Order: sequence, then C-alpha cells, then structure tokens
Amino acid sequence: MVAREDVIELAKRRGFFFGANGAYGGVAGFYTYGPNGAAVKDNLESAWRDRFTVRQGNMEIEAPTIMPEAVFEASGHLDGFDDMLVECPECGESHRADHLVEDDTDIEEAESIPIPEVEELIREHDLRCPACEAPLSDEPVEEFNLMFETSIGPGTGQTGYMRPETAQGIFVEFPRLKEYARNRLPFGVTQIGPAYRNEISPRKGIIRVREFTQAELETFIDPEADEPPLHEVADVEVRLYPATEQAADDGEAYTTTVGEAVEEGVVGSAWVGYYLGVAQEWYERIGVDTDRFRFRQHLPGELAHYAADCWDAESQVGAAGTAAGSSDGGEPRDEGDWIEITGFAYRSDYDLSKHAEGSGESFTVFKQYDEPETVERATVDPDMATLGPEFGGDAGAVADALRTLAERDPDAFDAGEVEVEVDGETHAVDAEVANFSVEEVTENGEHVTPHVVEPSFGVDRIVYTVIDHAYRTDEVDGEERTYLALDPEMAATDAAVFPLVSNDERLLDLADDVTADLRAAGLSVEYDDSGSIGRRYRRQDEVGTPFCVTVDRDGIEGDGPHTVTVRERDSARQVRVPVADVGAEIAALLDPEDDRAFEALAASYGEIETGVRTG
Ligand code: AMP
Repeated sequence: MVAREDVIELAKRRGFFFGANGAYGGVAGFYTYGPNGAAVKDNLESAWRDRFTVRQGNMEIEAPTIMPEAVFEASGHLDGFDDMLVECPECGESHRADHLVEDDTDIEEAESIPIPEVEELIREHDLRCPACEAPLSDEPVEEFNLMFETSIGPGTGQTGYMRPETAQGIFVEFPRLKEYARNRLPFGVTQIGPAYRNEISPRKGIIRVREFTQAELETFIDPEADEPPLHEVADVEVRLYPATEQAADDGEAYTTTVGEAVEEGVVGSAWVGYYLGVAQEWYERIGVDTDRFRFRQHLPGELAHYAADCWDAESQVGAAGTAAGSSDGGEPRDEGDWIEITGFAYRSDYDLSKHAEGSGESFTVFKQYDEPETVERATVDPDMATLGPEFGGDAGAVADALRTLAERDPDAFDAGEVEVEVDGETHAVDAEVANFSVEEVTENGEHVTPHVVEPSFGVDRIVYTVIDHAYRTDEVDGEERTYLALDPEMAATDAAVFPLVSNDERLLDLADDVTADLRAAGLSVEYDDSGSIGRRYRRQDEVGTPFCVTVDRDGIEGDGPHTVTVRERDSARQVRVPVADVGAEIAALLDPEDDRAFEALAASYGEIETGVRTG
C-alpha cells in the first residue's frame, strides 16, 4: 500500500492537486486541482452524472452556495452542526477532541460520545497537544459550529451561510421541483457542487478540506407505496460491516449480496440497499479496488435521531509514514486508513417537514386515490362571539388550538369542557362553544410529506481513493517507475503523442497529423516533444495516460505501410500500427462498449521486443 506522502508528492509534482494560495503562505484546508486533477475530477463527476442522474432518470439542478440564515435555522445546522473543539493552552493550536481520542485509544467513532465523557477520556489517557505535547487534561471541550458565516448585501445586511451540504439547495426548492416532477412520487433530484465546512483541523491532503465538492441525490418517496427496483442489483456482492459486527470483539466485515442483506434485515431499508448496490457497481466502474472497500453501518450513537438506517461507503487508503511499494496483485502491506467517501441515509420526512415548519410553505405532494374514499372527519367551528370576550387577544390562537385538537384527539370533546394550551397557558373551553361535530367527507386523495433517501458522495475523497488505488511501482528495462493504473474513463489524458526527434519537419508534421486524428476521434491527447523518450513515457505513466504513440522514421520512410508505435501503460508493451489505423484502434481500445484488447492489437500487428517489465 502506498504511503500518503507519496500520493501527495505525486499529486503536487504532476498537477493533480496542491495546497492553494501558496504564494501567500497558503491557508489550511483549501486545495487547487491542477490540470490533471481537474480532468480526473471532471471525469469522475461525468461518470457520476451518467449513473445517478441520466441512467436513473433523475433531474439535476444547480442552486446557490450561499443561503439565508432561516434555511439553516429550519434544517437544524445552526444549532447542531458542530464538532468538538479543544484548544492547546500552550501553543493555541485547535484540535478535534474526538480525533485525539480516536488516535490514542481503541475507540473508533468518538464523534458520537457526549462531551463530558470525551473530556474524561482526555484526562484518563493524559492526551497531549500533537503540535507541542502540552497536556490537554484541564482544557474544556467545546462545540464549534462548522458553517462559514457571511453577510449578504451592504451595511449590517442579512446573515447568510455558505452551504455545508448541497442537499439543502434541493430541499428548499421542493415546492417547485415537485411541479417539474408533475407531482408524482417517487422522483429524484441531483446536484454536484461545492460545500463548505470550517473544519477544526483540516488534514490528509484533499481528504479533509474546508471547501469540497459533493454529488448528492435526494430521492423523494411515498413511504407507504414506493419500492425500489431492488431486482436490478439483488445479485450485486457487497462487503458489509454492520453495527453488530463493529460492537463484537471478533466482529468483521463480510461479503453478501444486496438481495440477501435486505431480506435478512441487515440493511433495514430496501431503498438504502438498492443504492448500496448501484454505488458498488459504480465504484467498480471507476476503478476503486473492491478489496479495499466496504459499507460500514452507523453505530446507534452515530445515527441522527431522524435517520432510520445509515451506511457509509469507506475506502482504505495509504496512511502517513507507510512504506511505498507495489500493490499490484499483492496484499496491502499495512493497515492503511479507512475513510468515509459516501453516506447513504434514510432521512424520513425530517428535511421537508422542517422546511414546511420554517417557511410556512407546503412541502407535500397530493396523492390521488384510485377511487374517492369516504372518511369521517372531526371538525370544530368555534363561536368567536363567545371566545373573543373570554380570551381577548388569545382568542384566535385558542380557536386554532381547538381545530388541531379535533384532528388529533376527537374524544377529548366528549367531556363538557376541553382544555387547550396556548403559549404555555392552559385554557378551558366549554365543548358547546367549540361546536364540535364529526362529518362524513369524500376525499379524492391526501397530502403526503415524502420521505427522503439520500446517497451523498464526497467527490474529493473519491478522487483521492481512485489515485491511491491506481498507484503502482515496478521496473521497466531495469529502471524503477511509478505509474497510475487508472481506468481509462478516469484518466486525465487518453493518449500522448511523441515525435521521436524534434529536428525533422516531416516527422513533426506526421506527429501533428496523428494528434489531430486522435482528437478528431474525440480523444483527449497530449503532445510532448521535450526530453528523452524514456522520460516522456515516465511522465505519462505517472499521470495514468493509457496509451502513448511514438512517431519515428517508420512513419515516413520505407516501402510497406508507414507505422507508428503504440505503447500500453501497465504492461509497457509496444506494437507497430499503420498510421492510417492508429486513430480508430486507440479509440476502440478506450471504448468501454468495445472489447478490443491490447492483446488483440499485438496479435494483428506484431509486437516490438522492448520495455521488459518486472515486478
Ligand atoms: P456528510 O454530510 O458529513 O455525510 O458528508 C458527505 C460526504 O462528503 C462524506 O462522505 C465525505 O466524502 C464528504 N466530506 C465531508 N466532509 C468533508 C471534508 N471536510 N473534506 C472533504 N470531503 C468531505
């Protein structure tokens, strides 16, 4: 398994990602994607869009990243989107208290432990500041809200927040989005975009940053009627690490199928199970190593109170300070770090109910019955002429409270007097004044607040995983090389073209023509004429370019068909391909729908003895 330092060093050297604002000393938690990283991230987002928006028949939106305070008051983020902060009394460094506990004890998910117990654990284990070693035993642990606050407009303006998740931009627009879905459940809305969290201690490269990209899908369902198409993924194998296994001394993750996991109730919601299956296939498609991947269920203390079941997709990536080496086919050399890359949650009607309450708007869908239904409905028609003089300014509120009580508990009106509470004060009302009655009404349908099923993908952590899992080292012609065995769909560049020498006009013209041909076939192509051929191959290997084309004299001289060499990244094998065919051949090799393999290319055109690869 590759060390984290090696991935971060390669990422910086080869233009994947690096700390932003370096010219001004940089600020922790902000990264810039270089040309190769931006291309990989873009490919990943396209693959996500293809699977979770287009193929699922969902709608994609793009909402603002700054939202007014009222949104986060309603969503609960203002009150509860906190991490545990402990500050060093000596050097002033801020730390996540729960991470310090996890780093120095056997406890795995300290986030769910109440603050007083975390303070106790810090004392008990004599935890110290990782920066200066000062003891933290007497320091208070505080709740720190992770949202970035800003001010909208001039002067005192209106308070706004950078969204801490893309999901809220979908939830608040539900009243309009349901119209676009023609008021029919189930429907799904996706969004890919930035989210902001003022992390206490950003770390591990792009794994924990303050500005990152999420790809989220909110599926709105009728909990009584809508079932997922589970059969589509029932046979997909998944590695599960349920809460019970995490709690058991010798518990471990095991492999099962999505169908079995749902049938046996290990995954409590069929919808969540369905998305685990879809995601598993998608992770395989983009090159995540399934031996270093699992779905971990939230422990009871980790679950948000409204969430029925939650699972995290976790990948194992190289930890800091581990030896670099080949992971090609072999067992990982060390434990590595398990990181959460996606959350899958059954969120019930929590989000929409909260926004209905906070905004006063309707966040329901009208569900039409097949046949009209006759139901008994309890109603009141309070006599305001009596309530007015009796309750003064509270009379309207008392009447509303009577209406609510009639819906909730009609039996309360059997007594001569009913009691209702307004602003904490109990008022007694004569049942006759309430004018209670039960009527038979015919209804065509009902208003339902949809439940939400949410897969929430962290794009940056998946980019990191894809690079970490593709990282390989071996030897070619007696020289050590590093290469990224990226899936072609993820690679920044499809092919590179090298003119062997840079002082022959005819050869340079041909290299230009080959580049133009490949680009015309829709491929992204890098042209490189600087340095030795060996160095040019190494550069492309390190960014994971699947194929390199070298234009040499055989492309312009000789009697037979003129040829160029095509080299495959992972095996470093080369074949001579006629100039006229090279565009179509490489396009076929890269096309996932076409099963043309490099092996077949070698068989049709003949391989060159070169690039002996070991390891
Ligand atoms: P959450 O809403 O906390 O479940 O986050 C959803 C996903 O966003 C996680 O699975 C992570 O992949 C990603 N994520 C959360 N926080 C960060 C961060 N500070 N930096 C990078 N990715 C993050």
